[in-house]
Amino acid sequence: MSLRERLVEYIRENGPMTVADYMAACLYDPQDGYYATRPAIGGADADFITAPEASQMFGELIGLWCAHEWDQLGKPAFSLIELGPGRGVLMQDVLRATRRIEGFHDSSSVVFIEMSAPLREEQGQRVPDAEWALRLEDAPPGPSLIVGNEFLDCLPIRQFVRGEDGWHEKLVGVAEDGRLTFGLSAALPAPDSDDEPGAVREIATGLESLIYEIERRLHDAPGRVLLIDYGYVEPEGADTLQALKSHAKVDPIETPGEADLTAHVDFARVARLAAQAGLDVHGPATQGQFLRALGVDLRCEALSRANPTHAERLARELHRLTSPDQMGALFKVICLSSPNLPPPAGF
Ligand code: SAH
Repeated sequence: MSLRERLVEYIRENGPMTVADYMAACLYDPQDGYYATRPAIGGADADFITAPEASQMFGELIGLWCAHEWDQLGKPAFSLIELGPGRGVLMQDVLRATRRIEGFHDSSSVVFIEMSAPLREEQGQRVPDAEWALRLEDAPPGPSLIVGNEFLDCLPIRQFVRGEDGWHEKLVGVAEDGRLTFGLSAALPAPDSDDEPGAVREIATGLESLIYEIERRLHDAPGRVLLIDYGYVEPEGADTLQALKSHAKVDPIETPGEADLTAHVDFARVARLAAQAGLDVHGPATQGQFLRALGVDLRCEALSRANPTHAERLARELHRLTSPDQMGALFKVICLSSPNLPPPAGF
């Protein structure tokens, strides 16, 4: 039975499901989920492209950031952890950029947090010495630097829609003709708000437990987490659930398991939960600000001087990473740290 057929059967038996449960099934179903079976990142025949796939400069600067923060931690032996490493390109660039930093490679062990078997395979080809874990809490204890690019946007979200008579939860049900369809719950006993009818509020259900895992780790031993993703600080009341297939937006309800399904990240909530957990929070900064503060312009100049034939391509990549009309403003960067460390670079 296809994922769609199984979802229809499940809903007929149990009633409509939350958008979060639908998203989790589409992404992680072991048999047909997108990440479990057919993730396609980067390149012409991919479904979507990410910053490390767009330019080597992205991972190189994150590598230099890691070297700086390792120095600030006092150069301990540490786990270099990546959440959702995709094809392993970011870590490959991080390791290349830190090759000449004395002691960095000898002190670090790379740990990938990844649930997708096909992606683990690709990561192993690019970073053969890596270890894998399914969750952050399964990574070896001790000091750590943790990075995650486009990881938070995979966390399933619940969606709430403001009606004339209050808030309703958006649900996935089955229409009379047997197709999956979005619908609304009855009005919920939620507090009143100023939102206009039609406004949508979204809550990533797994965020609390992820912050809790980070908090435990960073209280047990010093470390930092750098999270980069598309998202907002002030919610706009918009529906940000998005399905991408072959670089095009498709209807999230039409393609269960066949498309990448994501939502914008609520960075204000990430910051609030982390601060409540006693972590130090820096940012969110925009990706453009962060990369500029780390010296992306100089990096681009140096690479162009060394390789004049690549100068034009590098300039295009720089524009793509930093310009507000490309990835520079929509993408945000936030750093969560163990208490009592000096401020991290880039903010
Ligand atoms: N960071 C990469 C890939 C982003 S796509 C890049 O920038 O190119 C999201 C990644 O997170 C994929 O590797 C996906 O398999 C992984 N992932 C998504 N949800 C996950 C989860 N709950 N646990 C572990 N890995 C997850």
